[in-house]
Amino acid sequence: MNAPSILSLNNSVSEHHKLSDQLSGIDVNIRNILTSVLEGAELSESDAVTLFGATGPALDALISTADYIRSQAVGNQASFVITRNINFTNVCYMGCKFCGFAKRKDESTAELLSFDEVADRAEEAWNRGATEVCIQGGLHPDIDGSHYREILKAIKTRIPGMHIHAFSPFEIWFGALKSKVSVAEFIQDLMDHGLGSMPGTAAEILDVEIRQQLTRDKLTTEQWIEIITTAHQLGLPTTATIMYGHIDAPEHWASHIAKIRAIQKQTGGFTEFVPLGFVHYESPLYMNIPNVRPGPTPEENLRMHAVARLMLNGWIDNIQASWVKLGPGYAQQMLRAGANDLGGTLMNESISRAAGGKNKQEIVPEDMIRMISAAGRDPVRRNTLYGVIEHYERDTVNRSLSPDASVQLIATTADAVRVAS
Ligand code: SF4
Repeated sequence: MNAPSILSLNNSVSEHHKLSDQLSGIDVNIRNILTSVLEGAELSESDAVTLFGATGPALDALISTADYIRSQAVGNQASFVITRNINFTNVCYMGCKFCGFAKRKDESTAELLSFDEVADRAEEAWNRGATEVCIQGGLHPDIDGSHYREILKAIKTRIPGMHIHAFSPFEIWFGALKSKVSVAEFIQDLMDHGLGSMPGTAAEILDVEIRQQLTRDKLTTEQWIEIITTAHQLGLPTTATIMYGHIDAPEHWASHIAKIRAIQKQTGGFTEFVPLGFVHYESPLYMNIPNVRPGPTPEENLRMHAVARLMLNGWIDNIQASWVKLGPGYAQQMLRAGANDLGGTLMNESISRAAGGKNKQEIVPEDMIRMISAAGRDPVRRNTLYGVIEHYERDTVNRSLSPDASVQLIATTADAVRVAS
């Protein structure tokens, strides 16, 4: 698949004029890169690094170019999925330095849900319209490899139609190790028991030096790639993620996205790319190590979504703006900077505990429709694999959450919704 040339694009004259005007007045290097992408060239790693430095009018041109490429790739729709996150345990001994989620098993807030409790939550979600459950947990030292299979069996016995999107590459590595089988055998067994897709989390930044500092390189770049490509080769789709805005730099971001693109060229197994900004609240990485940044800036978020759209053009159609990380207001902005998906609704009672009952506890489909409408996109509900389930009229009443109002929501949800690790 190659990107279409701008000459063959069927877009409005006003959009062409706006883009041309923006491109004409900016730094010549960035103009040349954006022009060549619009003409169908593949964005190189070094050119991506240059784009990550775009500021002022050049950043505006980058955003407009990404928005234009998005419109050509997937049209004007923006999607969401009704899902429920089920974190079956928060106990983990891996000691990743960025993690504000893991507990020791003797801590008062340590939790390990029974199989029935996991199935109860899945059933409740199904009854409220969910088509997917997203299941991840810490690497609890007392569970064995069969625990993952038993979770799938408990859900599928109760709700055969539920799509189970579950188990990060770190959990797959851990489960295979505990079961003393190969990664391929472990994944195949999970697929045989109902695993429908895998989150491509635990990627953080696919760079040896950075991973060494973040995770002590317990799951190496090579292992992450091997687990993901094995899943794809077995026919199991996965997402792809990046966690940015801590000790990393644009060179790492470009290299990471290039690796994702190379895997996709080989397997075609990624459904989407999800940039996940580092959330520093309660992160040991931020609290204990000097010179760690408190997450990406708003401009870095815009550049990340825009550059990802350009770099993955023709290979991964779906760029997700994670409202959990960005906050609803900023997530809307990403829908105008290359993203075409808002991810999942939020249905998790632990949020109310974390928030002390003071803040908004859930994001429901109506909120998603409102956010998408406010970004000027046509809302659709999708399934996990991006099949459209329902189209909606735009909600024209401007009731979207502001970026400021959403900051508190991110703080209170970050610990309860584990999507980054
Ligand atoms: S990021 Fe995941 S693997 Fe690492 S300590 Fe936290 S829960 Fe454990």
